[in-house]
Amino acid sequence: MKALIIVDIQNDFLPGGALPVADGDAILPIVNALQAEYPLVVATQDWHPARHGSFASAHPGAQPYELGELDGLPQVFWPDHCVQSTAGAEFAEELDQERIEAVFRKGMDPRIDSYSGFFDNGQKKATGLEAYLRGRGVTEVHVAGLAADYCVYYTGKDALSLGFKSAILLEATRAIDAAGFALAQEQFLKLGGFLL
Ligand SMILES: [Zn+2]
Repeated sequence: MKALIIVDIQNDFLPGGALPVADGDAILPIVNALQAEYPLVVATQDWHPARHGSFASAHPGAQPYELGELDGLPQVFWPDHCVQSTAGAEFAEELDQERIEAVFRKGMDPRIDSYSGFFDNGQKKATGLEAYLRGRGVTEVHVAGLAADYCVYYTGKDALSLGFKSAILLEATRAIDAAGFALAQEQFLKLGGFLL
């Protein structure tokens, strides 16, 4: 069975948000229309405590979008975004949520970031998404949402490593950095993923 995973379609990742993905709002009607094609739709939600370690503001002297280190792992320092229970962390108002059966939150541990919907970036803790999908008999996942070169890519890639068939839906995602997403696509194809 196929499932659609809608990654982080939250206000802060849309134009006007704290960490905007250019043209991110263009995917909303596409993602809404796609949902009808899947027997199961789930979503992920970036859900950080204030002063999360991935925020530049938590590191004296660090600038947003600069590369640094967090607890031994390379880390892009982001603007403060998707802080728990703020408007920026809410799903986009235009996103149809009726068919989203479950939401998997990530990024709660202040010491580690979490791009993938399956695990944190150190693969230390699972979100429960894998078990949920297996429990529902899912064998193939299609990934949409924001941003293509980070959370969508890592979700698709982890799905492959867990043995799911995995596709990234190109029309239903947008990247922060086009060159970074081109490299990510190459890597994803090499690992056995497919692009739709
Ligand atoms: Zn985040």
